[in-house]
Amino acid sequence: MLSDNLTLLLAIAAGVLCVLGLQGLSHPKTARRGNLCAMGGMGLAVLLAFAHPAMSAYSWVLAGLAVGAAVGIPLARKTSLTSLPQLVAVFHSLVGLAAALVALGMYLQKHAFGLMEPKLAVEIGLGAAIGLITLTGSILAALKLQGVVSGKPWGWWGRHYLNLGLGLGTLACVAWFTLTFSPVALALIFMMSLMLGWTLVAPIGGADMPVVVSMLNSYSGWAAAATGFAVESPLLIMVGALVGVSGAILSYVMCHAMQRSFISVILGGFGTVESSSSADNAAPAKAAALAGTDDVAYQLAEAERVIIVPGYGMAVAQAQHAVKALTGQLLARGVEVRFAIHPVAGRMPGHMNVLLAEADIPYDLVEELEDVNPRFAEADVVLILGANDVVNPSAQTDKNSPIFGMPVLEAWHAKRVYVVKRSHRPGYAGIENPLFTLPNAALVLGDAKEIVEKIGTALKAT
Ligand code: NDP
Repeated sequence: MLSDNLTLLLAIAAGVLCVLGLQGLSHPKTARRGNLCAMGGMGLAVLLAFAHPAMSAYSWVLAGLAVGAAVGIPLARKTSLTSLPQLVAVFHSLVGLAAALVALGMYLQKHAFGLMEPKLAVEIGLGAAIGLITLTGSILAALKLQGVVSGKPWGWWGRHYLNLGLGLGTLACVAWFTLTFSPVALALIFMMSLMLGWTLVAPIGGADMPVVVSMLNSYSGWAAAATGFAVESPLLIMVGALVGVSGAILSYVMCHAMQRSFISVILGGFGTVESSSSADNAAPAKAAALAGTDDVAYQLAEAERVIIVPGYGMAVAQAQHAVKALTGQLLARGVEVRFAIHPVAGRMPGHMNVLLAEADIPYDLVEELEDVNPRFAEADVVLILGANDVVNPSAQTDKNSPIFGMPVLEAWHAKRVYVVKRSHRPGYAGIENPLFTLPNAALVLGDAKEIVEKIGTALKAT
């Protein structure tokens, strides 16, 4: 058995490894090292939990680990990069469920022996409430991301009153539980928090889902920290707080990048425009012009400056290697090529950076939104590969649009804009994109990888 001092020292070491992990994840070059550090920290934490003096039911824990590994490992191997946010949301829901179950277990144990006290009741009540909000909120977020539930915001007028009522009701029951340790109060906390998780995420529209996922990440951390207080585990408090704070900072940074109010998003889209988007009410859109791969190759051959805008469709098509080959061809012809990256392109923060890095596309060709937007006016050709919401001009022009105010890549300022996608369907936010029908734009219909390869072949022939 480890001495108390050694346990504390190892717990601090695990916490430091987790901090180093977060620090490493701040740059693609150090991300792998960061992941290894965080895995080391968590591994050490698990070993410390095993060595805890109160630990006895090893067979139950090992059986749980075996079941978790049997489900989790194949799932993680099978999940494609584009489905990672759903998987992460499901993981958050499990953290929330675990926190709530630990809180319930603590209550049953302490209550049976008459050992409940107000401080513990607050920790149990809050741990259960945050955990269960995280559980149902994350399940709904995963269903929205998977497309099982529509990404459109739930526009019922009374939703904010319902959320307010459930939020205040939950807090009142935590207070009641703290004073009386009543099982009825705990049952009400469970019921109201389960509902609140769902009703908080339901009004948040597709375009704001990135913030929701990182916000739920933060909630899962706070749920774990509250549980850490209840079970008197400094390590769980430390790691839970790290997750809680880093998730909150990421949500804030993403809200800032998307010009969204942080408070309005975390309060279930409070103050956002109703979902009567112009796209819902507008007359049928004008027909978009269509172009073939030969047309694109011809324009690229004539161009001096080209900007490529990757989006979710490039990830689906796994077109990054074909894009690298096309970029090589253009650079060899003396064409200036840049990649324009929107902070929420794809389905997770940094999604496009990861794909471009995987294909070894040099970092110095890659530019963020603020840097690249002034360059579109000088571009001869913009090639949009499976991006849609992030290049939608209605974010600037249509006050009724659900994405109004979100900064977008201003691709329409270029001389020619080609949009590679498979159909006329809208993007993730479910709204029309007026860019497609502008006189300088044309759609190139097909899978992004196939189209890019065909453009490359046609370019060779010019
Ligand atoms: P969008 O989801 O808006 O559009 C993607 C486009 O790709 C679609 O119009 C689709 O059209 C096309 N597409 C899909 N598959 C292919 C394929 N194989 N080949 C060619 N085209 C394809 O993507 P954006 O990247 O523009 O925007 C991201 C959206 O996702 C934003 O609304 C953002 O808020 C949201 N989001 C982002 C997260 C993040 O953290 N980055 C997390 C959660 C949501 P078609 O079907 O016609 O082919």
